[in-house]
Amino acid sequence: MKVAFTTLGCRTNQHDTAEMQVILEKEGYAIVNSSETADIYVINTCTVTARSDYSSRLAVKKSLAINENATVVFTGCYAQLNPEDSSKMEGLDIVLGNADKLKIAEVLKAKLKNDSLQKESSLAEVYMSDIHADREFQTLPVTQFQGRTKAFIKVQTGCDESCSFCTVVRARGSSASDTRENILDNVRHAIDGGYKEITLTGINLGTWGMDFHLKETFSSLVEDIANLNGNFRVRLSSINPMEIDDHLIELISQHEKICPHLHIPLQSGDTEVLSKMRRNYNAKQYEHIVRRASEKISPLGLGADVIVGFPGESEVSFEHTRKLIEELPFSYLHVFSYSPRSGTEAHNFKNNIKNITKKERNLILNDLVKEKAQQFYKSFIGKKVTVLVEERKQADGVLKGYSEHYIPVSIDAEGFLQNQLVSVLITEIRKNKLIGCLES
Ligand code: SF4
Repeated sequence: MKVAFTTLGCRTNQHDTAEMQVILEKEGYAIVNSSETADIYVINTCTVTARSDYSSRLAVKKSLAINENATVVFTGCYAQLNPEDSSKMEGLDIVLGNADKLKIAEVLKAKLKNDSLQKESSLAEVYMSDIHADREFQTLPVTQFQGRTKAFIKVQTGCDESCSFCTVVRARGSSASDTRENILDNVRHAIDGGYKEITLTGINLGTWGMDFHLKETFSSLVEDIANLNGNFRVRLSSINPMEIDDHLIELISQHEKICPHLHIPLQSGDTEVLSKMRRNYNAKQYEHIVRRASEKISPLGLGADVIVGFPGESEVSFEHTRKLIEELPFSYLHVFSYSPRSGTEAHNFKNNIKNITKKERNLILNDLVKEKAQQFYKSFIGKKVTVLVEERKQADGVLKGYSEHYIPVSIDAEGFLQNQLVSVLITEIRKNKLIGCLES
């Protein structure tokens, strides 16, 4: 039987999809592309914004448009938070909770066995165990990830914070960490599988090890991973500011296998807005952590998530955000216009901001960071970077990939260099990427 996956949202969700693919392949299913005809379509949903809700539901329609008789499984955070509504969606057969994803093979077996029996109701079957129940972290060694060059290793899931705008914490449950041994095994697996970049991911990544009886630090785990043998590099996905300790900064500044790239969600540069968001830091603390990191790690690829238009965000508080971003060495930003999410504390907050104002503020920050990125890119002309070559562009035949600082690079070179870490001399900037040639 053929199975196709559609995955929305974060790297943790991508890792979940990779795990479900491993399980089904072991059962003899063939994994095909989501645009191909399949017997089963699995939609791994996201609910961070209203837009991701819409895309999650649309993915069901798109799949049934290819094969109306297919079995459709709906899982991920949107399904987790809306099981009843999901079960009523036309053409859906199974709604699977986030904590039940590793049971996908048995659930499908039961479904396909029952198919011969007349279905009593048109509602989809719901498999949803309590995501907030105490649980042991489970993950599988994965050997295949979307794309051939980067492996996403999930080290932690869930979150114990309670940011007032966030739905994730309700969809993923409390924080749970994988064991150091299992993570090191998974990383060795990926290295043996030929992956040159290991991206560590989680819902609240930096809190890895804090839920153990004897607490362990995330930085000590990063050190163990970087010290493994093999030709690979380590990249951290999004990490909250208060989880960045001196040891981690020291490691990134010293260890050549760890990418000098940090993605540190900011959300707002105004302390009053941050407290309404229930973030566990204020603007001064954020600034302090970023300055400490960028002084030690140079050059540092630095990104952040920012929400504009949070309820109560006045012109003055927005100016605090704009000014902080102007002063800190960001090389890219993900700017989101606030989208009220039902079931969150902020959903009931008054003093909402007009969409036109959100749009303006979004534009201001994106224009600002475009300039900063250009300045950052310029600093690499005449210098060497290490690029993981991902593919050769059909259009112009150049090779493309990302530098260790998370900058897109195009290389004018012959030969099959995909999935290799190559040293590149940067010669110029074109649009929003670096152009370079192979170092001889
Ligand atoms: S840290 Fe905050 S935003 Fe991030 S998952 Fe936890 S509650 Fe959500």
